[in-house]
Amino acid sequence: MTNLPVKPIDDQALIENGIDTKDLMFFITLRCNLRCKICYLGNRWLDEGISFSDQEAASLLTHFGQQGLDRLTFLGGEPFLHPHITDLVLLSKTLNIKEKRLTTNALDLGFFDLNRLKGDELSHISVSFDGITSKTHEYVRGPNTFQRTIDNVKRLIDHGFRVHTNLTVNGVNKYEVADSPAFFQKIGAKEVNYHLISMIGNAKKYPDLSIEPEEWIDIRKQLEKTNNVHGVSLRIPYMYVTPQEYQDLIRKKKYYPIQSKSYYSKNGQRIVLYPNGRVYISCDLSGTDYNFATYRNYKFSLNRQPNELSLFKQTQNTPDISSQLLHLDNKGYVRLSISYKEKIHL
Ligand code: SF4
Repeated sequence: MTNLPVKPIDDQALIENGIDTKDLMFFITLRCNLRCKICYLGNRWLDEGISFSDQEAASLLTHFGQQGLDRLTFLGGEPFLHPHITDLVLLSKTLNIKEKRLTTNALDLGFFDLNRLKGDELSHISVSFDGITSKTHEYVRGPNTFQRTIDNVKRLIDHGFRVHTNLTVNGVNKYEVADSPAFFQKIGAKEVNYHLISMIGNAKKYPDLSIEPEEWIDIRKQLEKTNNVHGVSLRIPYMYVTPQEYQDLIRKKKYYPIQSKSYYSKNGQRIVLYPNGRVYISCDLSGTDYNFATYRNYKFSLNRQPNELSLFKQTQNTPDISSQLLHLDNKGYVRLSISYKEKIHL
């Protein structure tokens, strides 16, 4: 058990703006032992390396957990570098949270103390990859990162954790995508969560990593036809649809503009919370100045500048405010939220 100290949280600004937090993306630290070429946070945030203190992290977790979260995700930076990550995972166990996840680069287990944790303490751990060979993975993540990550995946699985993997598809690793379900099954992953690279943050400096909308649509269709692997699930983002397909999704109530709903909670919203005080309601605009609120000293306040919530409310008929704000050229397609995915069981 953990005895992290707890203080009350003032989240009146969230409640007054209709945010009922059910899905918490909790970036507990911006410290990271890597500087990936695809990092959407960008080196500026990583170099600041700010973390929530143990008291703040425990207070926020307790506050939202006691409200009944449908889902909690620990992220960073690298969450294993937070000195209290083990205590926070143990604390989350005492709260009424349906699904608890953690996303890591697994380069080093750091402060994640396997001696104090059981494998069922988290619903799963997601380990991020940028290729299924050392060449492509290390092009993005740096030297000597590929085998170390695989070795730590094995350690986590041997300890009893359910491991999922993330693969961010980019212009360099795109030729490996068809073989990726088999590779990840072989290293023991139960689910592969695909992402499409966003050309924001560090990626802006590496145009060779970009993927055109048509290319992505082809890759997605190729993945959907995977039939040589069994016992693994694939989660694949749609990302791009035609304007007509977009209208159909809206009409059938299959898709909600990102800022209006969490895809993981029928009853509430997602908030994305960073230790530098930025608070978003979607992952799509993370790292930008369009955060809808700020958090400081145990209190949330609304961002009075134009932000993802205020802009979305002003432009209800605009399908994709994020693309406009990020100046993305979607070549005539509508870009959906990166969180909107289909799941295939193989
Ligand atoms: S992508 Fe993740 S692992 Fe890579 S630098 Fe960014 S936070 Fe660190």
